[in-house]
Amino acid sequence: MQHSDKLFETIANYTYDWETWFSPDGRALWVNPAVERMTGYSVAECLSMEGYPLALVHPEDRNRIEAHLLSAAGGSSRNDVEFRILRKDREEVWAAVSWQTIVDDAGASIGFRTSVREINERKRVERELRRAYEEAERANRAKSRFLAAASHDLRQPLQAASLFVESLCQETTDPQLRHVVDSLRKCLSSTSDLLDALLDVSRLDAGVLEVQPQVFAIIDLFDRLQTDLSPAAASGGVDLRFAPSSAFVETDPILLGRVLQNLISNAVRYCRREHARVLVGARRSGAGIRLEVWDNGIGIEPDQLDTVFEEFYQVDNPQRDRTRGLGLGLAVVRRIVGLLDLGLDVRSWPGRGSVFSVQVPLADSAREATWTPESQVSERLDGFVVAAVDDEPMQLVAMSAFLSSQGGRVVTATGVDELVATLERRGLVPDALVVDYRLRDGERGGDAIGRIREALGMPVPAVLVTGDTEPARLLEANASGFELLHKPVSAGELVSTIARALRSSASSG
Ligand code: ADP
Repeated sequence: MQHSDKLFETIANYTYDWETWFSPDGRALWVNPAVERMTGYSVAECLSMEGYPLALVHPEDRNRIEAHLLSAAGGSSRNDVEFRILRKDREEVWAAVSWQTIVDDAGASIGFRTSVREINERKRVERELRRAYEEAERANRAKSRFLAAASHDLRQPLQAASLFVESLCQETTDPQLRHVVDSLRKCLSSTSDLLDALLDVSRLDAGVLEVQPQVFAIIDLFDRLQTDLSPAAASGGVDLRFAPSSAFVETDPILLGRVLQNLISNAVRYCRREHARVLVGARRSGAGIRLEVWDNGIGIEPDQLDTVFEEFYQVDNPQRDRTRGLGLGLAVVRRIVGLLDLGLDVRSWPGRGSVFSVQVPLADSAREATWTPESQVSERLDGFVVAAVDDEPMQLVAMSAFLSSQGGRVVTATGVDELVATLERRGLVPDALVVDYRLRDGERGGDAIGRIREALGMPVPAVLVTGDTEPARLLEANASGFELLHKPVSAGELVSTIARALRSSASSG
């Protein structure tokens, strides 16, 4: 018996952690020598010390540790509770304590034991990780803000330029001039594509894109994509084909359309020069259907298969040749697929081609099909009075030129009061309002619409236009409940949205 006591004591004395044995009423009965290494106090000092062990605990952690000691005396056990030791030389050391009850052979409690380990290194790594994480977060926020600000500022003049070009188009009959205007239009449209992609990324990151799952026929989606994408494919010499499919699926058709559109545009862009072929098809796979985009193009090396989904990443384009795209298409695809909870896969054979595929759930029943693509009727505004409010005169001039070219009578103003006065003076009542989201003196478009309607005494249909790309602003604009257009608004989109607002007010009134 004596021999084994001695043995236990020897083992305990050599234990690296700081060990204490407390009596059931919380008095320290025995402390091992490791205490001196960790706290600077000797065993003897500890045993004769008033307030051991709390006197060795950092004052800020003392109450917490005292509560733990009381609960330990009450029979609790815990592992790895962090606190700070205040050493004899006043230095702070991070430590973690564990404790449990000690029982004798008969199972009766003879107190409890605490074991303290130093964790300075762990805390240091933790602090560094946190700092690195905060730094990354800060950089990420700064990037988002920069993108939002840059695309907002670029959107304004681009919006005006697009509308000017559209009205120029309507008026130009000279073939030579027509050619110049067409090229100008193409340049603007690719700049506008860049901003759209940036806006997509920032909207997807902000979580403001609302997912609206619907049941629809794959063939309808394929038809729409074929109409939209075939002309560009054909002019690039690419044979783009869609394999017919009778499947009905359930997901958001607009967002899925964007995914396929991006994948098909890539397939067309990275196709080989001769006998270029892109095939879009659907095949059953498990409980869903796999939509596949095949190309016989340049392919992607195995080590690049993940990287191509990163923002602005392009294989082999260090000069950032813009005719080769922007490097955002697949980043948008990845985000949308994540949002819709679909599967995404890519296989590729360098030099021979690639296949990108999206796994979509099949619909339970085709009868519930609720979505058909909108027909592309071009509309005009003949005879309607449209009132536009924007604090930037350039925008107004552009909007006015364009809306007039579409047959509308346009009244413009840089603020609500000015608009109401102008309408009164000219004896006009607008059929629709187009209002910029951010007006002078911090007025929001939604409030402006409210004031105009009040002044006119009627609920004139209204459309909000915003150049904002910052996630918080988008949420706010979305919440205003009006039909929202994002700058640069394409001419067709502007007219069709106004026409829709006119129609919905006609049918409700
Ligand atoms: P972008 O096409 O605008 O450069 P993406 O994000 O859509 O940007 O694509 C990123 C990169 O992935 C492309 O630059 C290209 O190198 C590669 N890539 C995408 N799709 C294909 C494809 N079908 N075949 C070969 N390479 C592709």
